[in-house]
Amino acid sequence: MTEPLLVATDVVKSFGPTKALDGASMSVRRGEVVAVMGPSGSGKSTLLHCIAGIIQPDSGTVTYAGQELSAMPDGPRSALRRTDFGFVFQFGQLVPELTCLENVALPMRLGGTRRKVADAKAREWLDRLEVGDVADKRPGEVSGGQGQRVAVARALVTGPSVVFADEPTGALDSLNGEHVMRLLTSAAKDTGAAVILVTHEPRVAAYSDREVVVRDGHTRQVEFA
Ligand code: ADP
Ligand code: MG
Repeated sequence: MTEPLLVATDVVKSFGPTKALDGASMSVRRGEVVAVMGPSGSGKSTLLHCIAGIIQPDSGTVTYAGQELSAMPDGPRSALRRTDFGFVFQFGQLVPELTCLENVALPMRLGGTRRKVADAKAREWLDRLEVGDVADKRPGEVSGGQGQRVAVARALVTGPSVVFADEPTGALDSLNGEHVMRLLTSAAKDTGAAVILVTHEPRVAAYSDREVVVRDGHTRQVEFA
């Protein structure tokens, strides 16, 4: 077994009087797809945000590739997030004023990649996610499933080590949801990216290698046979 890439240990996080996480732990290895399951309000998104370094836990540690993310200052932590992590949310993540191609090219352009190179790579990823035909449309002009596949292309285009997906199929019907999951997991396996997949749908979690169940801010690890 290889060393885990990302490890969260005993993470505690409160929002005012609400203890969203009360000692949550999980890990993911390179290339592994881990589903984070649990009822609404159980702390799944908070756990994902803590693991991705978007919010700082009150206590506990998050370690990524041997570096303690939870002890890093904001600047280096967000720089690392941009270079090493990709994100897919339920909806609303694409910039409405940009075309789908420009949306996928955006993270590369922000990283200083030349327009021509970024556009070519964006086009390649749109094709890979089977949405090459919507390249010049704006997000408001494409279907929900197409939009999520554009979002997956954008999350993967920079070659992240970890993709964080929070209810990526939550706004889709089951056929479109499965299509997104099939393409997301196969692209991640091809590139070697790990995926942390938050979902409350067993049919979506079925695309994972392993499950972590969150209940009232606590985690339970489920090993598949
Ligand atoms: P899940 O993703 O499993 O539905 P969340 O992690 O979003 O659960 O929320 C866990 C708990 O923390 C809930 O009680 C929620 O209302 C609360 N919570 C989450 N984020 C915030 C926030 N920014 N401010 C206040 N309460 C929050
Ligand atoms: Mg959530």
